[in-house]
Amino acid sequence: SYLSGQARIGASRKAVLNSTAQSSSHKYSHGHTLVLSGGAGRTGAARLSGRAALRIGAGLVTLGVPGSAQMEVASQVTGIMLKRVDSKEDLSGILEDERINVLCLGPGLGIERAGGLVPVAVAAGRACVLDADALSAYEGRPEALFDLVTETCILTPHGGEFARLFPDLAAKLNAPSLDGPAYSKVDATREAAARAGCVVLYKGADTVIASPDGRCSVNSALGERAAPWLATAGSGDVLAGFIAGLLARGFSPMSAAETGAWLHVECALSFGPGLIAEDLAEELPKVFKRLC
Ligand code: AMP
Ligand code: MG
Repeated sequence: SYLSGQARIGASRKAVLNSTAQSSSHKYSHGHTLVLSGGAGRTGAARLSGRAALRIGAGLVTLGVPGSAQMEVASQVTGIMLKRVDSKEDLSGILEDERINVLCLGPGLGIERAGGLVPVAVAAGRACVLDADALSAYEGRPEALFDLVTETCILTPHGGEFARLFPDLAAKLNAPSLDGPAYSKVDATREAAARAGCVVLYKGADTVIASPDGRCSVNSALGERAAPWLATAGSGDVLAGFIAGLLARGFSPMSAAETGAWLHVECALSFGPGLIAEDLAEELPKVFKRLC
């Protein structure tokens, strides 16, 4: 099925409305997201993701931080917990807590740290958002990533990251054609999702989301929903956190990706030029209030 425009917006809106907290809920019923951070001086991206996951309604968020960066992060976050993650063993230990139902990794993680932690994170069988360095770490050996991921994972590449994982599809997409655009971003994302075996969200002004079963949608930030000021440092890290937070609340991978991308643009539309990534998640309460 191919659903775009108003129909998809209606579906995302409904998903948000149907999932608001009930008077009987408590924080543990809204899931617990673990965001893995990079080292000292590179923790901002994970902090953006963590805060976004919390704002979108994850009951609890923990940042997994190398020992060297613990002070840096502790001085910056309040409602988010910290756990030390220096090694694969540290991560496995934390994941013994089965209440952690979602992992978000990649933003600011560093290629080397990502290479070590992605296999452990994915093997733990939780829903996983893999973004940024968690994708770039597999440049030149994408099959190693596709062998690992399961249908509870979501890959969220921008154009550069997409080309690192799917160089042949990116080349087809960019190949000039005398007969007009023969191979579209929708085609490429669908093929990518089938190959990876999980939902792929290919970012841009026209974000395309596809699942391995062939479902596909386009979240447009063009025309009436144009928000080109989203092209700013850290905005993708916020999107990764939104999706992780929705997964924590029990959204399916496809629905989390669609709803997260839609809310990301909704938040951006409250602003204009001058928007910075830090603004996005802070706008969510107003967006929810408008919707609900
Ligand atoms: P990243 O490159 O990982 O920081 O992600 C950038 C985010 O901004 C993604 O959610 C993109 O879809 C969005 N974005 C980038 N450029 C544009 C644009 N020109 N118009 C609307 N959204 C954009
Ligand atoms: Mg990014």
